[in-house]
Amino acid sequence: MALDLEKIYIDLHRHPELSFQEHRTASIVAGYLQELGFEVYTGVGQTGVVGVLAQGPGPVVMLRADMDGLPVAEETGLPYASIATAHDTAGKEVPVMHACGHDMHMTALLGACEQLAATIDEWSGTLIAVFQPAEEGGGGAQVMIDEGLYDIVPAPDVVLGQHVSPIPAGTFALHPGVTMASSDSIDITLFGVGGHGARPETTVDPVMMAASLAIRLQQIVSREIGINEQAVVTIGQIHAGTKNNIIPDRATLGVSVRAFNASVRTRVIGAIERIANAEAEAAGAPRPPEILYRSSYPLTVNNVEASERTVRALAQEFGEQQVSDYGAASGSEDVGVLADSVGAPLVYWFFGGADPKDFVGAVFSQSVPTDMPSNHSPFYAPVIQPTITAGVTALVVAAREWLGQ
Ligand code: ZN
Ligand code: ZN
Repeated sequence: MALDLEKIYIDLHRHPELSFQEHRTASIVAGYLQELGFEVYTGVGQTGVVGVLAQGPGPVVMLRADMDGLPVAEETGLPYASIATAHDTAGKEVPVMHACGHDMHMTALLGACEQLAATIDEWSGTLIAVFQPAEEGGGGAQVMIDEGLYDIVPAPDVVLGQHVSPIPAGTFALHPGVTMASSDSIDITLFGVGGHGARPETTVDPVMMAASLAIRLQQIVSREIGINEQAVVTIGQIHAGTKNNIIPDRATLGVSVRAFNASVRTRVIGAIERIANAEAEAAGAPRPPEILYRSSYPLTVNNVEASERTVRALAQEFGEQQVSDYGAASGSEDVGVLADSVGAPLVYWFFGGADPKDFVGAVFSQSVPTDMPSNHSPFYAPVIQPTITAGVTALVVAAREWLGQ
């Protein structure tokens, strides 16, 4: 049996599923792993799937792909664009798209599993393929561990993973040390006193508080974080009110915080709490705001020696020019949880998904940020090839570097 990876990719792309709803996806990957001769465990972390292929004593190598899509309406115009919808955790119907490219991660991992199974006589050790649910803020890695991942499989000697990104297909980016930011998702609910829109003097207006807080929070990074440190504070949601002539009694802001070190993270979160409380007090709010920590991802830290070893292997396969170090990325990930929880080194890299010709054109016209859509955009569309082949080969090369000879 040979897997038709392009067909698998298109099928997964057409049928994205939200975090912890990856039932169809899980059954597809579990089916292929079974066909390839892996011992397969399903339902590890709700919808997670684990495949194990053992070939005698030797190193234990874990390869990880994530499985979830996002509540985004696809606008790529591709013939295989998603028109899927689903219900989010609040019960609301939302469009769903593989806007982060996790369909590409699964396809590449299945392809790597196929090649490693076909060459099993050439290596020794244990290969663990993890298909993780709910990477997009759901903490799927931790849920897999809580539900007994490491009771089922041995602790790995290395955890390897990759994310598709808008760099040219066939190229790679790997940064030793802190490679992705920490992420904290915080909901702030401000309480006012509601009333008639015509009589603001009888109310405490939470909309004004929210507007002022949204601006004021931007001063944390510009006024409290030094030039050599970095952080991002983004307000991705503001919700208040039901009608133009009613002043509501509460407003909620959804805030996302990124940082590259723990002390900056602590300082930014402390400042958010301080400013939110002060804003409420300044407005004469009837009670202090409610600050809810919705989810939190730690820094993603690549082990330095393990990264260098993996970079050498990738550079040998693809050429030195194809493997770069662009520094740390401001996105966040929970792949590190799989490694940190058992003290294993992590090596996590980015593989290109952009059409190399389009990318060169955008570089020449200095329009990479606007013309090369990136992950989470409704226009994000990795080219099928050479993305899949490069993604498969990178996983195989990295895994073979770590498995016994
Ligand atoms: Zn994402
Ligand atoms: Zn992602």
